[in-house]
Amino acid sequence: MAANRAYLDHNATAPLRPAARDAMVLALTTCGNASSVHAEGRAARAAIESARGQLAHFLGASPACVTFTSGATEANALALSPVIEVGGQARNFDVLLVSAVEHPSVRAGGRFAADRIETIPVNIDGVVDIEALENMLAAHRKAGRKALVSVMAANNETGVLQPLAGVALAVQEAGGMLHIDAVQIAGRLPFDLEASGADLISVSSHKLGGPQGAGALIVRNDSIRVPPLLRGGAQEAGRRAGTENVPAIAGFAAAASEADAALTAETKRLRTLRDKTEHGIRATTPDAAILSEGAERLPNTVCFAAPGVAAETAIIAFDLEGVALSAGAACSSGKVGPSETLKAMGVGPEIAKGAMRLSIGWDTNESDIERFNEAWKRLYQKLGRERRERAA
Ligand code: PMP
Repeated sequence: MAANRAYLDHNATAPLRPAARDAMVLALTTCGNASSVHAEGRAARAAIESARGQLAHFLGASPACVTFTSGATEANALALSPVIEVGGQARNFDVLLVSAVEHPSVRAGGRFAADRIETIPVNIDGVVDIEALENMLAAHRKAGRKALVSVMAANNETGVLQPLAGVALAVQEAGGMLHIDAVQIAGRLPFDLEASGADLISVSSHKLGGPQGAGALIVRNDSIRVPPLLRGGAQEAGRRAGTENVPAIAGFAAAASEADAALTAETKRLRTLRDKTEHGIRATTPDAAILSEGAERLPNTVCFAAPGVAAETAIIAFDLEGVALSAGAACSSGKVGPSETLKAMGVGPEIAKGAMRLSIGWDTNESDIERFNEAWKRLYQKLGRERRERAA
């Protein structure tokens, strides 16, 4: 990050990787509609198909299974459909089961009516309760209802990883289909579509160092067809109409490829930096809560709260210190409010009010973490002093 700022909010959006910028600049300076037959059109088509191949390779899918969208919000809305065609046969889903800690774009339920959406509970760490999911699926099966299930791979606020193997098994045994929101895991931990057991997955470009406004829905095999949300031209094999955003698609694929190539080393490096952050928090505030600490988490995310410190105040103080963090679920619209995720986990209002998220990535280095730790020390002393003065 720039010497005068420590940007520690990668789960909201990651800085653009230079490789992504280069790919975008090249595409921006090349004219051509990918649907045109002339040389310019064919060049645009080639850029899209090359990006599709890169993304497919990154996620262990076949290129024909990748549909580019305007982001993961659109990919999630597209995936959650009460009718999905498999091998030429329409499969109808009566209910949609989503975990209580999903991103709002999944909780909104896509094309399912509100009364067809049910919530799978989570435990205090934010991990999906598999037994509850099994019971819900069994009850629907008994009543002759088919279920589509959507569970995220990793949570955007706490970084908690979901037990996807157990989820996939339960869904398979019940004869349902599974969608995984893989936005926060892609590029941070190994993730393979086939191995995940999912039928459909969503990914977003800007969380892994690509541009904002690009994403993809990827299906396990190309006989799985979701009715398009956008109808019109035959782009994306009829799965998503509209002239493709070639620069964004090219930048997305370049970022994904770079993240993929560095994955093993990056995971290790980020985990070391994350542990250093947590040591720093503990040294300054031994009574701080680190959320989801008891569960497996992404190597890049720390969600923490210190008694008596409101996140709203601390985030502003951090910003003045040159450190960018988020409060609550602030990857949506900068709003600072009670987090639905923390509420679903049963976190008390005092901790929920103080919950701050630090999330790191490709451009984070040791000095960013030192800067955070120093800032937290100063800030906590200052906020503590103010509290004591108010109490006196
Ligand atoms: N799912 C998760 C888990 C996310 O964190 C986000 C981004 N906040 C989205 C979906 C939406 O992605 P996009 O910004 O590409 O619409």
